[in-house]
Amino acid sequence: MNVLVLNCGSSSVKFQLLSTDLDLISKNADRRLASGVVERVGSESLVSFQAEGGPKFRTAEPLRDHRAALDRILRWVVAPETAISGVRSLADIHAVGHRVVHGGERFKQCVLLDDSVIDGIEDNIELAPLHNPANLKGIAAARELLGPGVPQCAVFDTAFHSTMPDTSYLYALPYQLYRRYKLRRYGFHGTSYRYVAYRYRQLTEKKQKDVNIIALHLGNGASACAIKAGDSFDTSMGLTPTEGLVMGTRGGDMDPAILEFLHHREGLSFEQLDTLLNKSSGLLGLSGLTNDMRELLEEEKENGDRRARLAVDIFCARARKYVGAYLAAMGGADAVVFTGGIGENSAEVRARLCKGLDWLGLSLDAARNKAATGGKEGRVSAEGSRLAAWVIPTNEELLIARDTVRVVKGAPRRW
Ligand code: AMP
Repeated sequence: MNVLVLNCGSSSVKFQLLSTDLDLISKNADRRLASGVVERVGSESLVSFQAEGGPKFRTAEPLRDHRAALDRILRWVVAPETAISGVRSLADIHAVGHRVVHGGERFKQCVLLDDSVIDGIEDNIELAPLHNPANLKGIAAARELLGPGVPQCAVFDTAFHSTMPDTSYLYALPYQLYRRYKLRRYGFHGTSYRYVAYRYRQLTEKKQKDVNIIALHLGNGASACAIKAGDSFDTSMGLTPTEGLVMGTRGGDMDPAILEFLHHREGLSFEQLDTLLNKSSGLLGLSGLTNDMRELLEEEKENGDRRARLAVDIFCARARKYVGAYLAAMGGADAVVFTGGIGENSAEVRARLCKGLDWLGLSLDAARNKAATGGKEGRVSAEGSRLAAWVIPTNEELLIARDTVRVVKGAPRRW
């Protein structure tokens, strides 16, 4: 089957086209056929597509909404000059898998999309006002452009965390607020964590129930997840992605009284406070320069910029604190696993984050750590390190495509 995986943001549409099926999954032989992104949907959009092994296709053109962006993707996918093997017309796209951010308490697994599921995603807009509406636009566009005969599935970012115990997911607020509004920790990056746990199990030849790791998804958005006996036990993002680690533009954990203080002292409205927390804080806010980790590391190295160093140090210190907390919360773990743009590529951040963790048995192998970049996976801890460290580049799209195949074929939904 050719499965189109869509990840729609408020002003972007990312896609991958994968060739997969039950027998290909069992042989680990599924293949990516093409991938790309449309950015700045709604204005002069930037289009960047590539078929596997083919040249990059880049253009800028006005695409007014998600439907227009998806239409542009589909026209490129089936164009004869794109030459994707086995894909000549829209009939060669057999299913669509959507990344949907918030599944609330209802969606614990991938589901086939129908009107009731769409209603359920709409019900969760309150919990993810930026993300779920964009996901719904992508679903509507795919239905319209590919027709009702092409099955579509939703894979939720929150679903992997549905196994968290109440001691992890409840906030210590009056309990009736949980009852009334389902106000609780949901967690995000769930598909990424599920992939990391799956791949770690393969690489270490462990059984699912023996997977006890702390996974750090460090990208522009960043979070940590305690994975105990193969399931999510705790995670750092909460009701929304604002909580937890220091991120590109989000500050993560802080005293909620700061909001009231700023409201009184600076007259900031809730909308302005939301922008401050989500768009102007984190690495960007601390450094005053950029949210981009690579640029910060360069700035620190080339110009000795003090605030660039401070931003990176605080980023690492917060993540280190979560490693310690999760080790205590889950009663020990076998490995720390790094993923996401920073986790996969920056030996420097991994080394600074793990500094001082020798006492609990984690020592990195400097050469291995340096070599693990640009999509390479492998162990980066020293031989005999009691707590191992791994780099496992994430692949959410692969799991979304596989989940979609299993749902469409009525196969058991596997971990
Ligand atoms: P993501 O959101 O997962 O795409 O990750 C984006 C982040 O990864 C940005 O902050 C990038 O600067 C960072 N990143 C990518 N490559 C590197 C690298 N080689 N060294 C440091 N940071 C990197």
